Amino acid sequence: MARHLRSEKKVRWHIDYILAEPGIKVTKVWINPVDCECATAEDVLQLPEIFLPGQRLGSSDCRCLSHFIGVDGELVSLEGVLRRRGYETLAWRRVGGDVEILDEVG
Ligand SMILES: [Zn+2]
Repeated sequence: MARHLRSEKKVRWHIDYILAEPGIKVTKVWINPVDCECATAEDVLQLPEIFLPGQRLGSSDCRCLSHFIGVDGELVSLEGVLRRRGYETLAWRRVGGDVEILDEVG
């Protein structure tokens, strides 16, 4: 997690390319200690306010349409899905161009 949020690092994952774009800001960090990325993607992709910025982004090693989504509107439905799946938000702060996580999910 912390690796993804450092501003100066070797670009490697899809999220790294997105976070390196000017104007992209981290507003909220969600984490789940359970490996449920595909199940979450399946739930989230059912939401009407979701759109796909690209096919198979972050899901080249599974059968999901994408693990990256866009939200057209408020995040209320998305947050409901994440909470039902057991995700929790992390406290964080900006330190220079980096995002520092202040707590961890037990
Ligand atoms: Zn998947």
